[in-house]
Amino acid sequence: MTSQTTGILTSLAAFGTNDRAVVIGAGMGGLLAARALADHYRQVIVLDRDTLPTSPGQRRNVPQGQHVHGLLARGRVIVERMLPGITEDLIADGAILANSKRDLTWFQQEGYHATPKRGISVLLMSRPLLEYHVRRRVATLPNVTVIGGCQVTGLLVTRDRQRVTGVRVADTDDRGTEHVLLAHLTVDASGRGSRLPAWLEQFGYDLPDTVVAGVESRYATRRFRRIPGQGGGRLATVIVASPHLQRGGVMLAQEGDEWLVSLASRGGLQPPTELSAFVDWAASLEAPDIFDTVRQAIPLDDGAMYRFPQSTRRHFERMERFPEGLLPIGDAVCSFNPVYAQGMSVAAIEAETLGRCVAYGQDQLSHRFFASIMPSVDATWLMAANGDLRYATGPIDLPRPARIANAYMGRLLAVAQRDAVVSEAFQRVTNLLDPPQALRRPGIAMRIALASIRREPPTPPRHADQPLATAAD
Ligand SMILES: Cc1cc2nc3c(=O)[nH]c(=O)nc-3n(C[C@H](O)[C@H](O)[C@H](O)COP(=O)(O)OP(=O)(O)OC[C@H]3O[C@@H](n4cnc5c(N)ncnc54)[C@H](O)[C@@H]3O)c2cc1C
Repeated sequence: MTSQTTGILTSLAAFGTNDRAVVIGAGMGGLLAARALADHYRQVIVLDRDTLPTSPGQRRNVPQGQHVHGLLARGRVIVERMLPGITEDLIADGAILANSKRDLTWFQQEGYHATPKRGISVLLMSRPLLEYHVRRRVATLPNVTVIGGCQVTGLLVTRDRQRVTGVRVADTDDRGTEHVLLAHLTVDASGRGSRLPAWLEQFGYDLPDTVVAGVESRYATRRFRRIPGQGGGRLATVIVASPHLQRGGVMLAQEGDEWLVSLASRGGLQPPTELSAFVDWAASLEAPDIFDTVRQAIPLDDGAMYRFPQSTRRHFERMERFPEGLLPIGDAVCSFNPVYAQGMSVAAIEAETLGRCVAYGQDQLSHRFFASIMPSVDATWLMAANGDLRYATGPIDLPRPARIANAYMGRLLAVAQRDAVVSEAFQRVTNLLDPPQALRRPGIAMRIALASIRREPPTPPRHADQPLATAAD
């Protein structure tokens, strides 16, 4: 019997169109790319190997969805711009609009950050809820078809191999049958495990230069019932691992009156999921806030683990030859250390950029796209890479600029504990609202220099029911 997926693929395959884009992968990158392309192509088809849930639910091939997934403020703004009204839909379905001034506790480098003068709005929700709403909105666009249960197995190219002309697809329930989908543009949004380099090599292209940064981040995550007032009344707590202890944690309120708590480690240490060990591990963090909540909260699941060995960046822009009709996006280009929560927001930036590049026509599309996303990818990669350097174990010979940058950042983090302006500047940069250079503006650099002369001590850890020691509002 023919499966439903095979039926759809067969009917699509019957029509070749020169005005069709195919997107491989219905994750955040793929869905937002489809949204951008829908303004410029008559037909956009998104293919995913997972059977896509019809309600918010975890997916086999997106195992990271079980762990905390903060959508940074820049990502939220872009997603709302691309899908107007989605913030309201998400809130109606349980997502929580939080403000960093009122709702965030941030502990780093032995102290709490001062409350910023102006807060940043962020949406708190699970990754499945966010992705479900993005998928629902994209799938209802009249010229977009999102199909689950089909795995892209390779690319189609012209005889001279200069242009990609579509994809080969297999129904995951009916592996014998392979379909061919022609497309004028193929976008690879298949995530960090993308097979694109191998597919390109098969057609005689060079492999992209690939830079990896070993970070060995590990997660253990559990859900708990959330009772108002817990967490010191805050909705989001971040305890950043110190280079010395290499253990941190994030606790975010999410839909369904839940806390999602991820304990994270560096350097290969695995946080446990078993409840009492999880609570003990939370107690070992440098600030007590997460422990104070989880030790008395009702657990809702058995927990999940994740191992993230390395950040990976593929420099497609450096390739001497790149075929026409093909673009990679999202984690397929650059997969960041998840502790910085950048991946979905960078995918959103790239998707919006894709729309702008396609609007200018097809001429030199890949060249223009790579050049346009480079500044954002570069800046974000550098922010994460510099942050990761602080955790390097064993002697490493850092180049002088990196040493200077790290020393400056160390001072800035200390000053952010006392100074609301510096704390706010830091939040804006980590939320990708301002470029990293904003932290070196004269106004900020001066505050850091003056505070360093005064050598004030950090704010010590406190219990969650004690008020935060903050700068005056
Ligand atoms: C533990 C962890 C925590 C994270 N936390 C955050 C966070 O807090 N904030 C944040 O912004 N980011 C976070 N990230 C990163 C974020 O998950 C990714 O950056 C983001 O999902 C990128 O989206 P993507 O669409 O490129 O890839 P993915 O979301 O991985 O989607 C790829 C899709 O492609 C499909 N696919 C793959 N191969 C094929 C194929 N051959 N054919 C058809 N379909 C295919 C998969 O099924 C999947 O649906 C985290 C990552 C991890 C690992």
